[in-house]
Amino acid sequence: MDRRELIDQALRGVEAWERKWGPFTPSPASEPDVDLPALLEDYAARMDASFPFFHPRYAGQMLKPPHPVAVAAYLAAMVVNPNNHALDASQATSPMEVEVVADLARMFGFAQPSLGHLTSSGTIANLEALWVARELAPGKAVVHSRDAHYTHGRMCQVLGVESRAVRALPDGRVDLSAVEAEVRGGGVGTVVLTPGTTGLGAVDDIQQALALKEQYGVRLHVDGAYGGFYTLLGEYEAYRAIGSCDSVVVDPHKHGLQPYGCGAVLFADPAVGRFYQHDSPYTYFTSDELHLGEISLECSRAGAAAGALWLTLQAFPLERDRGLGRLLAACRRAANDFAGLLKESDRFALHLEPTLDIVAYWPRRTRMSEITEAANTILQKGMADKDNPLYLSTLRVDADAFAALHPDVERDAETVTILRSVLMKPEHEAWIPQLKQALDRLAD
Ligand SMILES: *Cc1c(COP(=O)(O)O)cnc(C)c1O
Repeated sequence: MDRRELIDQALRGVEAWERKWGPFTPSPASEPDVDLPALLEDYAARMDASFPFFHPRYAGQMLKPPHPVAVAAYLAAMVVNPNNHALDASQATSPMEVEVVADLARMFGFAQPSLGHLTSSGTIANLEALWVARELAPGKAVVHSRDAHYTHGRMCQVLGVESRAVRALPDGRVDLSAVEAEVRGGGVGTVVLTPGTTGLGAVDDIQQALALKEQYGVRLHVDGAYGGFYTLLGEYEAYRAIGSCDSVVVDPHKHGLQPYGCGAVLFADPAVGRFYQHDSPYTYFTSDELHLGEISLECSRAGAAAGALWLTLQAFPLERDRGLGRLLAACRRAANDFAGLLKESDRFALHLEPTLDIVAYWPRRTRMSEITEAANTILQKGMADKDNPLYLSTLRVDADAFAALHPDVERDAETVTILRSVLMKPEHEAWIPQLKQALDRLAD
């Protein structure tokens, strides 16, 4: 089924449901007195400004459209517009949220019952995890890697919690000896680990960090906003350790085929639900069951996000050899194939072997400053090419980390800007030869 057919069937379902409630007269006030077709044309013209995130020639940032299955499900639920803040406002989509959250908990190996819910983003999901961490260890610091997402430092500031950024290894993994030194020094409540950093896609050694929890009693929070779904492939030891950590975040709007507005936070211990307790006179109850609104920091949340994720996970189950795992495996192959071509290239060099689907590379030059200049030029030329555009992104790397990996390059700057391609669409796999050709053209 193509996207139009999926959307059509989904909308027909809602329309049949609407008809059950009997006719009523629409208000003239709901009818805009403008030329709507002309307005929509203007809208389409403005939307033309977008970069083609859907196309494999977009090999830049962490961006791609939702899967058509998610689009159809989201649209159908959006027309109804349930609010997963309360069961009374989302009779259909709240139970779907409970199911998908249980699916995610199983994927990470969290023992049941655990606690969790969808959020509007990875930022909010991390905020909730750090907030619960603060409530459990007031006055204690949060330790995270310098290569962790900047949201951790920022959300600690929001929460009034001290955050300590520690060294990352040249390959982007957190330096666990630096983490241990902090923890040993005292005053640390929580350590943040990232299975898939936003910059390089590095996977922190969560399995080794488990010892910190055992030995020092610190809380372990896992930020899998980007890389969490790679748990499915079972490729790295680190992922098997997530189930022994205290909380985990994953963004279905990154690798779960969803439109924006879909993050998730899970807690191993359901008892942390007590921190969410509130007694609001606005919240209406028709059931004794736990409201998702009672275990979530946000109030209104799109029921459509839960509906879309639910249908998507029926179509793409959280399994390794089919469903989402099969899709992610294609992204991994794309990254490895691309890395292989870069290693053979005399125009480009591979920065490091990709761990997930992010490939970092640089135009061969003798000095760091020249690499920065060439990377920026290639980025701009790629976007400006009218006939055959190519969209990449850049990454600023610390000169010491770069020098550790590439000692032959002259160190004449404090940072180096290199190229970065997030190959998060399975369609990238077949496109790799073209991607490489386009890059070579830009390098000449
Ligand atoms: C994207 C990302 C975030 C932030 O999530 P949003 O959904 O953009 O708010 C946090 N951590 C990591 C590792 C990420 O990749």
